[in-house]
Amino acid sequence: MLALEEAQRIVLENAAPRPTSRVDVLQALGGNLAEDVRADRDQPEFDRSAMDGYAVHSEDLETAPATLALHPGVIAAGCWPELRLDRGHAARIMTGAPLPQGADAVQMIEETQVEDAGVRFFKGVEKWEHVRRRGEDLREGEVAVAAGTRITPAVLGVLASFGCATVSVYDPPVVGVMTTGSELVEYNEVPGPGQIRNSNSLALLGLLYRHGIEGGYIGKIPDEIEQIVEALGRGIESADLLLVTGGASEGDFDLVAAALARIGATVFFHKVAIKPGKPVSFAKMGGKAIFSLPGNPVSAVVAFHLLVDPYIRKLTGSADPLPRVYRGRLARPFRKGGPRRHFVPAVCRNAPVGLEAEPLEFRGSGDMVAFAKANCMIVVAEGDVVLAPGAEVEIQLLEDPRA
Ligand code: AMP
Ligand code: MG
Repeated sequence: MLALEEAQRIVLENAAPRPTSRVDVLQALGGNLAEDVRADRDQPEFDRSAMDGYAVHSEDLETAPATLALHPGVIAAGCWPELRLDRGHAARIMTGAPLPQGADAVQMIEETQVEDAGVRFFKGVEKWEHVRRRGEDLREGEVAVAAGTRITPAVLGVLASFGCATVSVYDPPVVGVMTTGSELVEYNEVPGPGQIRNSNSLALLGLLYRHGIEGGYIGKIPDEIEQIVEALGRGIESADLLLVTGGASEGDFDLVAAALARIGATVFFHKVAIKPGKPVSFAKMGGKAIFSLPGNPVSAVVAFHLLVDPYIRKLTGSADPLPRVYRGRLARPFRKGGPRRHFVPAVCRNAPVGLEAEPLEFRGSGDMVAFAKANCMIVVAEGDVVLAPGAEVEIQLLEDPRA
């Protein structure tokens, strides 16, 4: 059985970054930037107040408490103050407003009181206190967002602040999703005797959404070789990447491997030493890729996280496609045996010791109800492992900030 690292290496080796297109910035959400975006102006663009309060000469408040004469008027955000602040004076200023010439700090309104003689300051200020200095975040011409960065909502904010109406992103692949299994009915149908609802399609389409990809649903195919062959052919014609679940292991009706052979696909591997998720294959045909994922719902999702996510990230230009690993402490004892690496659904939280991960009660690869409560997986090494509470473990987040 193939080690996960080897499987990931093969998958990435077979993923070439896709062409790029210029799209409206909002359309780029979830994709990866294909170009460096540079600041078109300093950020902030001018020295501006970070507080509602008074613009002052910081030296005038060295002996605070002190009273300064009040300059008439209010400097509001959006205006450009013509005044030059005289020594011994304060000017009322609002958050986001440009600092008047001469001023080098802002004292917040909470530290002041208006009096007949002017404004009383209870406390002094450091030079540039409560001022966002021009260019302190970024200077004009510097790289604001580097090529290969995943476009998150925060990145959209940065792109907007530098006036990017359109950006170049890697074209998302066209992805087809199909499920196999004669027992399946769709999620909006009532199962008859022996039938179950097809939950994998929706879970996989949801996972694709996080890459900004709207997957195409090809359908559920009964466990009949001719029908699977036909559906694979149809799927691969219309998609760059085909995800198939079910029929992937050794049962009498697990026919996806045979169907892949029939259509002449090159299969790179068909089992990986992970639990859940072992019966996963990766194949290519005519430059297009096919993942045959397990039918068990948790196995399908775990295999997606470990292999399909990195494949899509590489395809869409990510600078760092593999799952990120964090370290934390185990919240309760855990033991396992067997030759595979385990990915244990868990809840991780911040604790005084750092990240702490608590394995969930989990009844195995069909137990999507438990898995859906997890926000991470604890990675437990191959072989017999006995872990005490507090043991250091590897953690992979399920809500990876990249996807
Ligand atoms: P298989 O890999 O086809 O042997 O399926 C393994 C287990 O997962 C069986 O219990 C199937 O009924 C179940 N299963 C297969 N496909 C799906 C699906 N699309 N949604 C929910 N459960 C499924
Ligand atoms: Mg099946």
